[in-house]
Amino acid sequence: MANLNSFARCFVPNCTSSSKSTPSKVFFPVPRGEARQQWCSAVGRSKPMSSTSPHHCCQDHFDVENDVYNWDWCLTQMHAGCKVKFQLKENVLPQKVPKCSHKQVKDWLLCGV
Ligand SMILES: [Zn+2]
Repeated sequence: MANLNSFARCFVPNCTSSSKSTPSKVFFPVPRGEARQQWCSAVGRSKPMSSTSPHHCCQDHFDVENDVYNWDWCLTQMHAGCKVKFQLKENVLPQKVPKCSHKQVKDWLLCGV
């Protein structure tokens, strides 16, 4: 998968991460089909989005150490210049607000705002 050359931009509203502005971040492809709807509502994205076009979500919206298989190992490989495929665990959904404010987000999401 030669997606290193293609431009990825985070699909989360108000997130400015992109493979140009933050090239060191990992971008995960947004799944297609039904799961895409779930991802959209998880991050509060109300604008309709094509269910087939490629979209990406940056690592900030995940608890990567828990949500990604072999995160540490993959990161080491990537820093070593190897091509790695980061794989999210099943049924993992992105968080709207970056991980640094993870705790508040959870309360906030539970309020249904
Ligand atoms: Zn993002």
